[in-house]
Amino acid sequence: MPEQYFVEKRMYQAVARHLKLDDKDVKHVNVLRRSIDSRRSKVYYHVTAEVYTHSDVYKKEIIQVNYKDVNQAEPLIIVGAGPAGLFAALRALEVGLKPIILERGKNVKDRKYDIAKLTKEGIVNSDSNWCFGEGGAGTYSDGKLYTRSTKRGNITDVLNKFIEHGASEEITIDAHAHIGTDRLSGIIANIRETIENYGGEYHFSTRVVDLMVQDGKVMGVKTADGASYEGVAVVLATGHSARDVYELFYKKNWKIEAKPFAMGVRVEHPQELINSIQYHGENYSSYLPPATYSLVTQVENHGVFSFCMCPGGIIVPAATAEGQQVVNGMSNSRRNSPYANSGIAVTVNETDLPSEYSQHGPLSLLRFQQDVERSMFAAAGNTIKAPTQRLNDFCNGKQSKRLNKCSYIPGCVEAPLHELMPPFIVKSLQQGFRFFGSRMKGFYTESANVLAVESRTSSPVRIPRKEDYEHVQLENLYPCGEGAGYAGGIMSSAIDGINCVNAIARKANLTME
Ligand SMILES: Cc1cc2nc3c(=O)[nH]c(=O)nc-3n(C[C@H](O)[C@H](O)[C@H](O)COP(=O)(O)OP(=O)(O)OC[C@H]3O[C@@H](n4cnc5c(N)ncnc54)[C@H](O)[C@@H]3O)c2cc1C
Repeated sequence: MPEQYFVEKRMYQAVARHLKLDDKDVKHVNVLRRSIDSRRSKVYYHVTAEVYTHSDVYKKEIIQVNYKDVNQAEPLIIVGAGPAGLFAALRALEVGLKPIILERGKNVKDRKYDIAKLTKEGIVNSDSNWCFGEGGAGTYSDGKLYTRSTKRGNITDVLNKFIEHGASEEITIDAHAHIGTDRLSGIIANIRETIENYGGEYHFSTRVVDLMVQDGKVMGVKTADGASYEGVAVVLATGHSARDVYELFYKKNWKIEAKPFAMGVRVEHPQELINSIQYHGENYSSYLPPATYSLVTQVENHGVFSFCMCPGGIIVPAATAEGQQVVNGMSNSRRNSPYANSGIAVTVNETDLPSEYSQHGPLSLLRFQQDVERSMFAAAGNTIKAPTQRLNDFCNGKQSKRLNKCSYIPGCVEAPLHELMPPFIVKSLQQGFRFFGSRMKGFYTESANVLAVESRTSSPVRIPRKEDYEHVQLENLYPCGEGAGYAGGIMSSAIDGINCVNAIARKANLTME
C-alpha cells in the first residue's frame, strides 16, 4: 500500500511480516526498484529491496568517477550542449580527450530570460529558446529519464552521472524516474563545472555553420562568427530542431535521409480527473503521486500514441523561429500544477505526404513539418497562441463554443483543428482518442482541450552513420543523438553521446575503462 512505502515504520513492519521476521530484526531496507501498480481496484507499490538484519552491514555505494585532466589532451569538437553533447563531453573526460563544446544558445541561466520572453511576449530568439541553449531541449522539460530501449547502452552510468551532478538518488529506483525542470537547470550547470574543471571548454552563442572537409575527412567546424575549431573528430549533436544543419547537408550533398516521425496535438485534462481514472475514484491515497498514463493504438497503418506525458505540468511554446507554432510539455519536480498534458501523436511516413513533397527528397518530411507549423501559426492570427479545440468537439468535427481553462501561458484561440490539420492525422487522432477513452473511462471528455501542433516529437531527417557511428560518407564525423535520428529522449540521447565517444576512442586506440 502507498502509505506503507512512505511511512518508514510501516514499511519495516510490512517487510518483517513478509519475511516472517520480528519487527526489531529489520535494521535497514535499501529500496532498489519501485513502481506503482494501479491495474486493480487497490493501488500498490511494487518494491524490490535488500533487507538488512544487522545494522552495520549496509554501506552506501560511492559513485566512482574517473575523469582525467584533459587540459593538454587532443581536442574533440562537440556541437550542441544537449544531453547527447554533454554526456559525450563527460565521456571524453574519461577517455582522455578535451571536449570543446560549441553551443548556439546561451548558458542555462541567461537562457531563462529568452524563454520568458518567448512565453510571455511571443518573441522567439532563434538561438535561445525551449529547444536551444545549454542542456538542449531536455533542460526545461519534465526530465523523464526512461527509454523504451534498454539495449542501447549503460543506463546506470547516465543515472549515476545525473546523481553525481545533483539529481536525487531516487532516480535509480523509480521505474519511471523524472527530475523536473526546476532541478535540471542546476544539474546542467554542475555538469559544466565538472567539464571545465577537468580542462574542457564551452563556447556559448557559437553557432556552427559549416564543416571543414579535406579529402572526405572532417577536420573541424566553422562558426557563424567566422572562427574555426579543429579536433580529432566532430560529434554533431544538434538536436531535431536544428533545421539549418539539415539544410547545410542538403546543400552540400552530404548524405541525409527522410526519417518517419510523428505529429499530432497536445491534450490537456484536469490532473484530478486523470488521478481519479488511474487510481479508481476520488478517495485515492494522498501518498500517491499525480497519475500518469501511456496509451498506444494502431489506426489503419498509423500508430497513435501518447508522448512525453507530463502529470502536474504545463504546456509550453517550443517554436525555434518566427512564424512557427509548436507545443510541448514540461513539469517541475513536484508535478504540482492542476493539469495533466500529453502529446498524442500519429506516425508520419513519406508515403502519407501529398505527392508535391517528393521534390524535396530527404527533406520531404521536414518540409511537411514546417508547413503544418506555419499553418497553425496562421490559424492563431500569426501569433504563438495555440489553435485549440475541446477534445470531444475535435473528435466530432464540431466548432468549440468555449474552451476549457488551460496551462498554456501564451493563450489559446478557438480553431477548427479537425479542418485545419492534415486529414490523415485528424482521422487517426479521432479514432485514437475514442479508443483511449474506451481504455481509460473518462479520458474522452469535454473537459479536455487539444492544442496544436505537437510536431517536434523526433527528427524528420536522419544523418546516417555506419556501425562504428561514423557518418556513412564523411570520415571523423559522428552524427549523434536525436538530431541524427538515432535517439529520442534524454536518456537515449545521453547514451548515444557516450557510445559515439567510445567509438572515437576505439578508433584512436585510447584506453577505456
Ligand atoms: C519542452 C520539452 C520537454 C521534453 N521533455 C522530455 C522528457 O521529460 N523526457 C525526455 O526524455 N525527453 C524530453 N524531451 C525531449 C528531449 O529533450 C530530447 O529528446 C533531448 O534533449 C535530445 O537530446 P540531444 O542532445 O540529441 O538534442 P537537443 O537536446 O535538442 O540538443 C541539441 C543542442 O544543439 C544546439 N545546436 C543546434 N544547432 C546548433 C549549431 N548549428 N551550432 C551549435 N549548437 C547547435 C542546440 O542549441 C541544443 O542545445 C522534451 C523536449 C522538449 C522540447
